[in-house]
Amino acid sequence: RGFAAFAGKQTLRIDGIKDIIAVASGKGGVGKSTTAVNLAVALASKCQLKVGLLDADVYGPSIPIMMKVQQKPEVSQDMKMVPIEKYGVKCMSMGFLVEKDAPIVWRGPMVMSALEKMTRGVSWGNIDILVVDMPPGTGDAQISISQRLQLSGALIVSTPQDVALADARRGVNMFSKVQVPILGIIENMSCFVCPKCHESSYIFGKEGTRRTAAEMGMECLGEIPLVPDIRIGSDDGIPVVISAPDSAVSKAYIDIAQRV
Ligand code: ADP
Repeated sequence: RGFAAFAGKQTLRIDGIKDIIAVASGKGGVGKSTTAVNLAVALASKCQLKVGLLDADVYGPSIPIMMKVQQKPEVSQDMKMVPIEKYGVKCMSMGFLVEKDAPIVWRGPMVMSALEKMTRGVSWGNIDILVVDMPPGTGDAQISISQRLQLSGALIVSTPQDVALADARRGVNMFSKVQVPILGIIENMSCFVCPKCHESSYIFGKEGTRRTAAEMGMECLGEIPLVPDIRIGSDDGIPVVISAPDSAVSKAYIDIAQRV
């Protein structure tokens, strides 16, 4: 009910922002935030774009840890929050505004008004692409965000597992309902390459994402394997695109960023 109150409101462009793209997943834990962070950093460092990163996953913000930014934003003279710049990306997250480890127990209207503040209440300056790390799922919150932010497009992240792909299809259908174009689907955790014998194991199944993309008339933009460097980069707050820019996985992220 809380989110519905915002759904009919007029959508407004955010001053200075050219395009807003959502990184979404039907299911949690598939690597949506990891993908959003690495793509944002790749867009800024390899595509020479002015990039913002908005952590709209208000109940489980990951950007403060993944980008190693914990400080509270300053407030500018026009009473707007100043985004925190890291690795050439201007970041804003609910995690900057609440105490670390504090549970966020807000109801719909409070979440939506916080998101309003984190978008229109921020002095973004000139931004070519604002990457939005969406909350997982396909509920009212996701629909409201898609409508209010006038998304230019959405990227769907999924593992190749059937149960994740079923949720990814729901995500695609949700964006279609609110007329947001799907830019493509990214397969994460596509395989595990054994560091000892170098053999690939398809833990979550093989080529499921490509199949689903083809069935739904979408493009599969890339496949990211399950590798320790990505996990370490997330936990240390140094995305792999920064810590190991010449690695195969960084090249895969950069390739996707260049295709977006
Ligand atoms: P979501 O945003 O979908 O909930 P996260 O991006 O938070 O998922 O990822 C969940 C966990 O999996 C994180 O600990 C992250 O470091 C790890 N992870 C994500 N993608 C990969 C990958 N390709 N290789 C290794 N670890 C990964």
